[in-house]
Amino acid sequence: MTLKDKTAIVTGSTSGIGLGLAEGFAAAGANVVINGFGDPAEIEAERARLDGLGDGTVVYDGADMSDPDAIEAFVKAAEAKFGGVDIVVNNAGIQTVEPVESFPKDRWDLIVAINMSSAFHTVRAALPGMKERGWGRVINIASAHGLVASPYKTAYVTAKHGIVGFTKTVALEAAQDGVTSNAICPGYVLTPLVEKQIPDTARSRGITEEEVKRDVLLAAQWTKKFVTVEQLAGVALFLCSDAAENITGVALPVDGGWTAA
Ligand code: NAD
Repeated sequence: MTLKDKTAIVTGSTSGIGLGLAEGFAAAGANVVINGFGDPAEIEAERARLDGLGDGTVVYDGADMSDPDAIEAFVKAAEAKFGGVDIVVNNAGIQTVEPVESFPKDRWDLIVAINMSSAFHTVRAALPGMKERGWGRVINIASAHGLVASPYKTAYVTAKHGIVGFTKTVALEAAQDGVTSNAICPGYVLTPLVEKQIPDTARSRGITEEEVKRDVLLAAQWTKKFVTVEQLAGVALFLCSDAAENITGVALPVDGGWTAA
């Protein structure tokens, strides 16, 4: 499929799933705004690589997804540069693994801000333009943890359940304007976010890191395989296709059967 002349913004796309989705959109010919933190030289190398993949232009914006004003400016800058934002992918996310009694208060606020509220701010800013042009796609990267819980992840599970509700509400509000709103709910993908929580989970549960992978991360994933970023990019592109025009308000698990059980 082609996304030529479409513009996508992908939050948190200097790494992991977001980078994979940005790559998929760039290869399909879209203009893409990548976003996120990291080493400036590495980000520029990725931006240049993505820019070479398709007909569109790929730019970087380092807006902080915990800052509502910065998020609004991020959307406005993309609209000014490309004449509109057609696809919003809310993907930026962080994690903390800690029992609720000792969960750091500042991490709760930050996780809710980045993993949930940032989606409200991007959509609030981008939806008027989508409605005006009569076409838009909101894709929220939730998680299997948007549908079911796991211990020690209160803020993350709360934010991901919240984003599923947000997804559905936007779907209803925009249904007659050519705009769909869906959530993708991945199971475990081996990205830096997951790699980082392996030692913490091992400590919280008193087990080895190998046991965390086998007995915790893949325990509920019936395929016994990690989901890949390429598979998620394929799903996101499908949601942008004409075939998906009537798919809206969905929280789509891509989780190896985790939430089926
Ligand atoms: P990752 O750590 O590899 O990437 C996270 C991205 O978010 C990075 O680009 C980072 O710079 C960016 N980011 C963090 N804080 C930011 C901020 N304040 N402003 C802007 N960007 C910020 O993580 P990932 O595994 O690729 O996760 C991406 C999304 O997918 C998250 O929302 C995560 O919850 C979700 N998810 C991941 C998995 C998994 O197994 N990896 C499973 C389900 C859902």
